[in-house]
Amino acid sequence: MADRAGAVSGGTCLGCAAALGAPFLDLGRLPLANALLRPEEAGAPEPRLPLAVAYCARCHLVQLTALAPPETLFGEYLYFSSYSDHFVAHARAMAEALAGRFALDAGRRVLEIASNDGYLLQFFQARGIPVLGVEPARNVAAAAQARGIPTLDRFFGPEVVDEIVRRFGRADVIVGNNVLAHVPTINAFVAAVGACLAPGGAAVFEFPYLGDLLERTAFDTIYHEHVFYYSLAAVAGLAARAGLEVFDVERQAIHGGSLRVFVQHAGARPVAPAVARLRAEEDAAGLTQAERFAGFSRDVARLCEDLVALLRRLRGEGRRLAAYGAPAKGTVLLNACGIGTDLLEFTVDRSPHKQGRLVPGVRLPIRPVEDLLSEMPDVTLLLPWNLAGEILEQQAEYRRKGGAFLLPVPVPRVIGADDLP
Ligand SMILES: [Zn+2]
Repeated sequence: MADRAGAVSGGTCLGCAAALGAPFLDLGRLPLANALLRPEEAGAPEPRLPLAVAYCARCHLVQLTALAPPETLFGEYLYFSSYSDHFVAHARAMAEALAGRFALDAGRRVLEIASNDGYLLQFFQARGIPVLGVEPARNVAAAAQARGIPTLDRFFGPEVVDEIVRRFGRADVIVGNNVLAHVPTINAFVAAVGACLAPGGAAVFEFPYLGDLLERTAFDTIYHEHVFYYSLAAVAGLAARAGLEVFDVERQAIHGGSLRVFVQHAGARPVAPAVARLRAEEDAAGLTQAERFAGFSRDVARLCEDLVALLRRLRGEGRRLAAYGAPAKGTVLLNACGIGTDLLEFTVDRSPHKQGRLVPGVRLPIRPVEDLLSEMPDVTLLLPWNLAGEILEQQAEYRRKGGAFLLPVPVPRVIGADDLP
């Protein structure tokens, strides 16, 4: 395994150490998806690292074949969960569901791994439930502290278990939203979760679902920060290696299709029928067979060709084109498909932390959202397509004035201006 930029994992599975086959998708060398550039950095080259994914036929874990060092990924993280109304609403609903299901009160403890700016823990805290967040991005952890959410400014792993247990105790509920994908040393990580979990406790992980990724050709959710792309089968294997077991699973619409998986110390309570049901569905859909992954590369190439052809055509007709959002998936989509300032004039983003910067690689300038109305591009490529419902609603005025949105995934699709072309 790697501690250098772009070093390979040695061709072995990070989960079970079996030999990995060849990658089923290779996107070439891409810039780090969240490393938005300052204007003064625009003239200098930026690091580009290989981005390819392979499937482990033994434990079903889909993973990157080369790793970027964590400090390049998390040093100054610009993603604050609270800037999306949709994520905050999802977090509120999750807190309510977990507090009800596990009868959480002032005598129970909730630990969140990768707690970001406290967007989720605030809802447990409001119910009087003791909380602790663990968040490695210094500036984001500081934002959580500033709003009164106790937060350890560290990477979660075996080295923080003692401190958590001493300071906070073993947790009745441990939440890890969009974190399982990020940790290369995944077996040690899951073992540390087990060490922080009370005997009858539940660890609840939410992550983008591999089944949805394949079905929607959502290849732009593949980037250096996401080492793993999970099926339930793969999570079940991980849990078992740490003496844990999956006892329930739910599908969630967030992030273009996610799983919420409930994990416990093996045998703590009966396993819900939903687990065997989804495992059977995965077998039927081929998520546990290498053959299913073979055609994905072709699907991705076709999506990029169709998208670029459509943008060129619109541009050739003299239409003004822009983008909405500067999410990690936008960096991947634009760079992998080769969509730059020759086609798009700018992108806009709600987060003031991103405004004034440039999208890595393609160097697309990021402007305030208001510029969509003042500039009125004819067509706006919607990069955070997983938030399409929320954004189309927010941009009702742009659409009323004749602006159209272009959704890239699962197939390029125009919405508005009588659905050009
Ligand atoms: Zn494996």
